[in-house]
Amino acid sequence: MTLLDDLSGYEFEDAIASLFRALDYEAVSVADRVADEGRDITMRNGDTAVVVECKHTDTVSRPVVQKLHSAVATYDAVGPKRGMVVTSGRFTGPAEEYAERLRANGDPHPIELVDGADLRRLGEQVGMDLYNGRIEIVCEETLPVGDPERVLVDAFEPVENAPTRAALPAPDVDVRYRPIVDAEAVTRATFETSVGVIHRIDRRDHLVVDADREGPSLAPGGAATLVGVEPMPIDEARSNHGGDVSRFGATESEYREWVKRRLCDRLERTVSYTGGNNVTYERECRPAPSDVRLGTVRSLYLPRVTAGVELGEYSHGYAYDAAGDRQLVREDRIRRCVHCDTSGADAASYTYCGNCGSINCETHTREERLTGDPICTGCAVIEQFFFAEKYFFDETNAERFRERYEAMPFYRKPLENPRLLAVVVGIVALAILLAVAAL
Ligand SMILES: [Zn+2]
Ligand SMILES: [Zn+2]
Repeated sequence: MTLLDDLSGYEFEDAIASLFRALDYEAVSVADRVADEGRDITMRNGDTAVVVECKHTDTVSRPVVQKLHSAVATYDAVGPKRGMVVTSGRFTGPAEEYAERLRANGDPHPIELVDGADLRRLGEQVGMDLYNGRIEIVCEETLPVGDPERVLVDAFEPVENAPTRAALPAPDVDVRYRPIVDAEAVTRATFETSVGVIHRIDRRDHLVVDADREGPSLAPGGAATLVGVEPMPIDEARSNHGGDVSRFGATESEYREWVKRRLCDRLERTVSYTGGNNVTYERECRPAPSDVRLGTVRSLYLPRVTAGVELGEYSHGYAYDAAGDRQLVREDRIRRCVHCDTSGADAASYTYCGNCGSINCETHTREERLTGDPICTGCAVIEQFFFAEKYFFDETNAERFRERYEAMPFYRKPLENPRLLAVVVGIVALAILLAVAAL
């Protein structure tokens, strides 16, 4: 009745392969079997070669064990060899007796039996959830969230006229733990024609895969710089910061295959070469998945932090991927003008408007005529004085300045429009010069 039974045969074999990898068996590979349907798993445990027969059936009877025993005997491998039958169901009495007899007789090719109950126990040991419909990666580790409050305060600091640290309200922080797979791969391939080697691949790649339910995709640039940070238990991170955990969308085997295919796509090249007959040819040089050897493949969580503060009518903040002190900003609502969406420039070129709470680019920032504080063009009360637009926090400030302007001596008023004043002075000076010249 457990959902393990809902797996297809292929998924079952992939899941079992992932399980053995997690149990530190080496060179675990799922191979197509020629003789009958299904696939075998071969792997190594120290110097012993192990052949695993997967049976995703309710019961496994003696002939299965017997057949594997002969297969192991003829299996081509160096050193000791043994077999293992793994089932999601159970073994019949005769099957168990047969395996027991091999062991008791000291047979050189013993067969180990692993039933559904054993499987779940092994799964729990390595944190794999064997109860769910898909054999999922259950991962206990996350990169550290760091200190979102400090990150936000630091981001505000360089913004012109920004509220002080003390005046900034406590940010709203939301953390989501997003599954990633961190894989290192070595690809070696040689492409030969009748004239010799035309192309060679020998390289190491580091890929970070977004592994949520949306399907695997390469994590946006820079993620590789985050995964170098020491991870921590996810329970600990959640007890400090809360947050939801997204689930892995595929099995480890599926991610391994995906990474290999992805690398093959990426490393494919069209190579031109000259044949013996002096004719130039082109050939597609595409590595095969078997040319890609995966080193460490780690599953872990990467916290996506959304931290924002409400200021006036606006909310400003960051969405970023966090790994302790390192952050990769994914959405920046601090270095962005709310009026024209200009974004990304140096934080110091943005100005906070204390009147409405917006952050603005230089074009959308003015000086409040009465107080001299910065104000944005969006919320300002605008009035003309000596043909120049003046900006005010509100009607009251405009009114107070109007009174002050009225009280000004006539020669002070033009100073409200220095540009116009300069032009007028220029024209007057020119007129005087011309008049003098005419004399
Ligand atoms: Zn702007
Ligand atoms: Zn404003």
